Amino acid sequence: MSEYLYIHIPFCVRKCVYCDFLSVCHDEAVAREYIDALCRELALKKGFAGELKSIYIGGGTPSLLPNDCFTQLFKCLRDGFKFSASPEITVEANPGTMDESKINALLLLGVNRLSIGVQSFNDNELKTLGRIHTSEEAARAIGAIKKAGLKNFSIDLMYGIPGQTMDSWKETLSRATWFSPNHISSYELTPEKGTPLYEMVKSEESNPPLPPFTKGGMGGLLKKIKMPDEELVLDMFGYAIDYLSSKGYEHYEISNFALPGFRCIHNMNYWDRGEYIGAGAGAHSFIRSLRSKNAGDIKKYIEITGSGNIPEIESIKLAPSDEIKEFIFLGLRKTEGISILKAKELGIAFPGACKELIDEGYLEITEGLLRLTRKGLPLSNMVIVKIFENLEL
Ligand code: SF4
Repeated sequence: MSEYLYIHIPFCVRKCVYCDFLSVCHDEAVAREYIDALCRELALKKGFAGELKSIYIGGGTPSLLPNDCFTQLFKCLRDGFKFSASPEITVEANPGTMDESKINALLLLGVNRLSIGVQSFNDNELKTLGRIHTSEEAARAIGAIKKAGLKNFSIDLMYGIPGQTMDSWKETLSRATWFSPNHISSYELTPEKGTPLYEMVKSEESNPPLPPFTKGGMGGLLKKIKMPDEELVLDMFGYAIDYLSSKGYEHYEISNFALPGFRCIHNMNYWDRGEYIGAGAGAHSFIRSLRSKNAGDIKKYIEITGSGNIPEIESIKLAPSDEIKEFIFLGLRKTEGISILKAKELGIAFPGACKELIDEGYLEITEGLLRLTRKGLPLSNMVIVKIFENLEL
């Protein structure tokens, strides 16, 4: 029985240039049909759920939904599921879609954590990313959240943005901590294939003409763009660790920092390979050792649930070698690392398989836990690939 539920809301005002999440431009009529479909899926999946410790409503931009859609969604949740005594209930929010009425409506429904996609407090960087809000609007949204009395909120930031300097990154971090959020996520911007950003970077590097790009209404806005130097990006990552630690934040996962007692329990469950139920277009679930995925096409998702079926299009039982891979790459994301004892139970030959990486200073073992060192943290992908090679996975 899973105690963790993820709900995907795939609507945004418009597509950001770097976005490869499942989201489409908002259409209220479609969103309303979608919420009906979600309620049908939740009713079909409630039998897999125990007492919920966490509900995470992500996207997309969930905060775009009209208040009555949230009321409908929470009625389905409260009617169909048991909640634990103090569940973590998170909603992802875009500062361009938050006002006092939205915040108060969410709090009244029982939402007790907001994750706010600020990304930067520099307006030029926000424009480069194609975000819909300014830094001033972000500050106003956070002010409104604090005024409503919600202390448990997280601010999402991004480094490695084209045109970003170390000074502007320092300013963004300083402004973020000024609001005293309980949690800060700090992600490196990477140009993912299929996004406008990827095309902009590629054309800068090899000089081909830019393709016409119309996806998500971004047509005509593309320009050639250069990503910041790798060394600067590494320094930004290092600065974030030092600065946020000096402000009392625990660096508990590669990209996540929390004041003591405020780690995101929902995401901790992913990194611990715990079970979870996913609902909504494209959502993933992990139940009884099966990893499954919902239809990503919104029309198809609505149709399948309309015919009374669970909208899953893929379901696989992991091979033992895949389970080991997951255990390593998810577990090493946590700064506390992975248990050597547990690794041995899974048949992993630690520490032998990573002796070289330990000698080279990328990994360390203390108190029975294998973890990335400060040198290894920004190079986690390379370190993990090396471990897989040594284990012949
Ligand atoms: S707000 Fe931007 S980055 Fe986030 S899901 Fe929407 S389009 Fe993607």
